[in-house]
Amino acid sequence: MTSRLDRDGEFGLAAPSVVSTRATALNSTEPSADELAIAGWSRLSTCDWPDRIVTTLFLQGCPWRCTYCHNYTILDPRTPGVVPWQDVADLLAKRQGLLDGVVFSGGEPTRQRALVAAARQVRGLGFGVGLHTGGAFPTRLRALLPYIDWVGLDIKAPPDRYDEITRRQGSARPAFESLEMVMEAGISVQVRTTVDPTVLTPGDVTRLTELLRDEYGVEDHVLQTVRSDGTSEEYRNALKKTELMG
Ligand code: SF4
Repeated sequence: MTSRLDRDGEFGLAAPSVVSTRATALNSTEPSADELAIAGWSRLSTCDWPDRIVTTLFLQGCPWRCTYCHNYTILDPRTPGVVPWQDVADLLAKRQGLLDGVVFSGGEPTRQRALVAAARQVRGLGFGVGLHTGGAFPTRLRALLPYIDWVGLDIKAPPDRYDEITRRQGSARPAFESLEMVMEAGISVQVRTTVDPTVLTPGDVTRLTELLRDEYGVEDHVLQTVRSDGTSEEYRNALKKTELMG
């Protein structure tokens, strides 16, 4: 099915100083930044990209359904965005020298092909580009790499436990392919693992940490504690049960 987000957009070239969303795509098959479905916007953030002051966009849609996800309202790819890209471009024009960059988060931001045009435009305006991703779409991530300065990459589990977290089959392959790609590209990356105690054992976490370090050369791996707020009732109950048993 071709969604609104997969349609080709307008394209063209303009001087970087002109803040126009019509200047964001370089060929006829690439959607323009205007096509981006933006579900939410944190205009000022100091915690989404280490040591940077950024504006953060939460992009609509994700192919996975992680046990602990607290972004359920933005997972459906058919839901249209609520923030026009032009509003973001207008803010950037006013924040030259005051913001370090833009973080594209989600949902799964690489799901949207228009992200390439948006990232290119952000770079053209002189800002850095950060990306939060689970690596579900390595081919689209590859197209983005030239415009990305920093990646916060979620690696959720050792490969054999991956689908238990994402609740989608075959999810480890694209995630680890994306990790390999980012490491090879030499882009600054922080790998993050939200430790879900309803699925992962301490031994799983150790195996993952060793795999990331020894096989992929990851130096910055952060373990995060799962948060129950915003998760499903089913998950909150499972978490409570695990905590009681622990
Ligand atoms: S990848 Fe992120 S946004 Fe998607 S379901 Fe998992 S936790 Fe939620």
